[in-house]
Amino acid sequence: MGKLEDYAQITGRDVIEHLYQLAERLKGIKIVHVNSTREGGGVAEILKNLVPLMQELGIDTHWEIITGEPEFYQCTKNMHNALQGRQVNISEPLIKVYEEINQRNAEVLCKELEEADIVFIHDPQPAALIKFCFNRRGKWIWRCHIDISKPFRPVWKYLKNFIIGYDASIFHLPDFVQPLPHPQFLIPPSIDPLGEKNIELSQEEIQAVYEQFGIDLKKPVVLQVSRFDRFKDPVGVIQAYKLAKKFVPSLQLVLAGGGAQDDPEGAMVLEEVRAFAEDDPNIHVLFLPAHAHRTINALQRGATIVLQKSIREGFGLTVTEAMWKGKPVIGGDTGGIRLQVVYSHTGFLVNTPEGAALRIRYLLRHPEKRKEMGEKARRYVLENFLITRHLRDYLTLMVSLIYGVEERIELG
Ligand code: UDP
Repeated sequence: MGKLEDYAQITGRDVIEHLYQLAERLKGIKIVHVNSTREGGGVAEILKNLVPLMQELGIDTHWEIITGEPEFYQCTKNMHNALQGRQVNISEPLIKVYEEINQRNAEVLCKELEEADIVFIHDPQPAALIKFCFNRRGKWIWRCHIDISKPFRPVWKYLKNFIIGYDASIFHLPDFVQPLPHPQFLIPPSIDPLGEKNIELSQEEIQAVYEQFGIDLKKPVVLQVSRFDRFKDPVGVIQAYKLAKKFVPSLQLVLAGGGAQDDPEGAMVLEEVRAFAEDDPNIHVLFLPAHAHRTINALQRGATIVLQKSIREGFGLTVTEAMWKGKPVIGGDTGGIRLQVVYSHTGFLVNTPEGAALRIRYLLRHPEKRKEMGEKARRYVLENFLITRHLRDYLTLMVSLIYGVEERIELG
């Protein structure tokens, strides 16, 4: 990952200058971010990039994680599924585990959290920490990364008991906002263009990664990168591939992903995916280790088309990553994908495997359209979804929480 100055080559100097000006107002404050995994999934990806840049701006920023037993992750995965709309009831014993684990983690973290000026609690897993930190003095913000536009009501009602205690919350999009008795902010996520996941790679390196997995780059490649999670619809991706392959026999499909420490369902979904792939030699199901950022980068750069056929998606960093690499994306018509995929400009939104297959065929038939859409996609990310914009949003939010809305900030 790069130093702040290095980003100026991509964003222009003004953008970096403004970050320093905003950060000036925050000198001397202490910030703590808390989530439930250091590796795997979008939240860890963002914190890994954002925390060092906040530190570089001279703001005392820390990143803590909570830990628990498998039952805790079972509970929070159910919670995650329910908040994204599945009718999943969470049993009383699991709720008890959820609160106990939060209490236990609070005992370890409380001193640090109570001293902090601003605490960002990411997603539902650590949301109950607030109940067990009695002497907090700073502002606590709940940062929601998932699609809670249509939550399963009983579970949201339970979680809301904790969320209402926060001073503010942040969502990715207006659709996700919920009635809450505190200010709500809209901040979409971002990617780091200088991180291993997104830096430029040589054609040789891309080629070598594809060769390592026995995939032929001379033939078309459709790629989806995701944790093995049913909301990402990997089975729907295989269905789309099978439909498209009838018309494009040389087509290859790559489903690449790993697990996340806080996601206990991955292994089961991976098995389902392998079974559905039925030993087709042109379907490559790659289970990648947590540090495979460069491999994913190469896969995204080498792909002809990138898919993210999610049924629910908080944002979909994999979409942003692919767009930054000049790829048109065929994405599920849901959540944060809608914010990124501008229909027929940066990609296509689809609702079914049939729709995805149709768009795969269209893009394979029209290389000039692929190129044009890919260029627009990259520009769209440059203007909206880079880490510098994200950092600026966070700094502005913190300044407004600490100084109040009356404060005027002149950036020049
Ligand atoms: N990712 C990864 N390895 C994997 C699967 C995903 O590094 O095996 C990364 C992916 O490149 C992206 C993030 O994890 O940066 C996933 O974020 P996204 O918002 O797409 O989905 P989430 O997993 O948070 O639901």
